[in-house]
Amino acid sequence: MDTVHHILHVDMDAFFASVEQRDRPELRGRPVLVGSDRRRGVVATASYEARTYGCHSAQPMSVALRLCPHAVVVRPSGRAYSEASKQVFAIFRDVAPKVEPLSIDEAFLDLTGTERLLGPAIDVARAVKRRILGEVGITASVGIAPNKFLAKLASDLEKPDGLTVITPETIDEILLPLSVTRIWGVGPKTAERLHHLGVETVRDLRALSREELDGLFGVSGEHFWRLARGLDTRRVVSAGAARSISHEQTFEEDLEDPARVRKVLLHQTEAVARRLRKHGLRTKTVTLKIRYGAFETITRSKTLDAPTDVTDELWRAASGIFDRWARSGYRPVRLIGMAAAHLGHEEAQVSLFPDETREKMKSLDQAMDDIQRRFGSGSIRREGG
Ligand SMILES: [Mg+2]
Repeated sequence: MDTVHHILHVDMDAFFASVEQRDRPELRGRPVLVGSDRRRGVVATASYEARTYGCHSAQPMSVALRLCPHAVVVRPSGRAYSEASKQVFAIFRDVAPKVEPLSIDEAFLDLTGTERLLGPAIDVARAVKRRILGEVGITASVGIAPNKFLAKLASDLEKPDGLTVITPETIDEILLPLSVTRIWGVGPKTAERLHHLGVETVRDLRALSREELDGLFGVSGEHFWRLARGLDTRRVVSAGAARSISHEQTFEEDLEDPARVRKVLLHQTEAVARRLRKHGLRTKTVTLKIRYGAFETITRSKTLDAPTDVTDELWRAASGIFDRWARSGYRPVRLIGMAAAHLGHEEAQVSLFPDETREKMKSLDQAMDDIQRRFGSGSIRREGG
């Protein structure tokens, strides 16, 4: 029998607004909008009192104030939030052997196999909530489920101050009536396409065959087929578990042709990028290792402008380093290696103005990852550029 996993997703309720209300008692019970500029800014967090008026994060502040004119606008106090976040994560690490941060105020905790030591997952969840309230002074919502997708979904079902358990037996009862927009990866565009097909709930989505889903979503068809059944095999990866991800290859003889080395480097970059994405990690530093001549080895690094898991961005850095070295006097290469270091977790924060080119590259990466998963490595490769 397969082990049932016990994954917790813990998410602070209206985090920034809750910290403000904790620190300024006059704000308690009042609609609060945390954001930087009254007219041009956007809402970072709306308190639950403000949410009843339709205010929410990422909304233009002008719109939020039209909906709730008497809301109190508070400038974000970053230091208080990161202090509270540190306390919360210290509690997580105290109770769970594996903690994967998703953002400043949420994380996955893996309690699989800890029952004898820590007691049932639900007791740990209650203790986490109690400690966050007692030690940090804010509330959190917790989802407990056999996998990450369902745990994250569960934590959202009874917010604020919620505790929702999904067991293998209750997956269908909880999942099927929900709107398809609850499915990870179903954004407004996909939701609209599904709406046109009469698909509103997860139950409707599950009624579509694998072939229909493949026809509709191409390589993402399988993703939706699995999620509609509550299946997700992603593991909880502790932050700091991997300090770098790298691939290297030693050749039987020195390669005289730079183009051949470059091709190997491209495949290594793709493999590193794929592993980053698989673990939800991003890198800030790309390092090349080149061995040539009489075992002379050099390493060259490039720090990226922003952390990334996008293959094209990593390739631009890696090929840039290689080309510069090759131009300065190429010598036949014995070993080439590519590493991504300074790893961090991808921010769960939604980008308000997503860069369109970057979004395109990301969907290309996702499509290629899906094909790799289905048909194995070597089944698809991008053109060397
Ligand atoms: Mg939150």
